[in-house]
Amino acid sequence: MKAFSFLLVLVLAAVTACGSVGEGTEPEAGPTVEQDTPSARGQTFESDVELARELTEAYWKQTFSAAGLTYRPVTAFTAYQGENGPDCGGQPSVPNNAFYCPVGHFIAYDEQWMNGLYERMGDGSVYVIIPHEFGHAVQAQLNTAFRLSIEKELQADCYAGGTLGALVKGGSLQTEPGDEDELLINLAAAGDPTDDWLRPDAHGTAGQRQELFAKGYNQGTTAC
Ligand SMILES: [Zn+2]
Repeated sequence: MKAFSFLLVLVLAAVTACGSVGEGTEPEAGPTVEQDTPSARGQTFESDVELARELTEAYWKQTFSAAGLTYRPVTAFTAYQGENGPDCGGQPSVPNNAFYCPVGHFIAYDEQWMNGLYERMGDGSVYVIIPHEFGHAVQAQLNTAFRLSIEKELQADCYAGGTLGALVKGGSLQTEPGDEDELLINLAAAGDPTDDWLRPDAHGTAGQRQELFAKGYNQGTTAC
């Protein structure tokens, strides 16, 4: 795929020296160093989810603060199973989804669905979906107005890319070979969860989503 390769180059250009999208220090290089048990954080689905949330909110807290604003953390970050998710302003949640709810300022996700993506497509799924949903939480706080749903969605992708780019460049996240592909594949494949109920067809094509994600990744969230 031409567009994919192009975008991958863009992302790779910014990532050259990095390791895994997952927390951690560089592996010890010394020949006498024994393999330590990997840190629990960033090594399992649950810990990746928690880490993605933590780092994303830390990024926005700092970014808001630098702009003289105060970031308001989400009130809840809720895992649900299939049909048992929380309502959002009277709208029932649906299975196989993740969403930001502006009414309660919370994020919720179908845990089994997201875990399935994680198993099939790697930890990149978590590091795409969660920062994307937090992107919506940021839009709500900034009172960003959109004419079209697709603008809102693509900006959230851009925010997600910008968040990850900043975390990688800042050393909070390290990428390993294959992570760039994973991020882009997940971005294209994971679909746009929450806004399905608002406007099902307006999340952007895979190419558009990857393009905006790469833009954020390379240029930062201020470019979004
Ligand atoms: Zn969205």
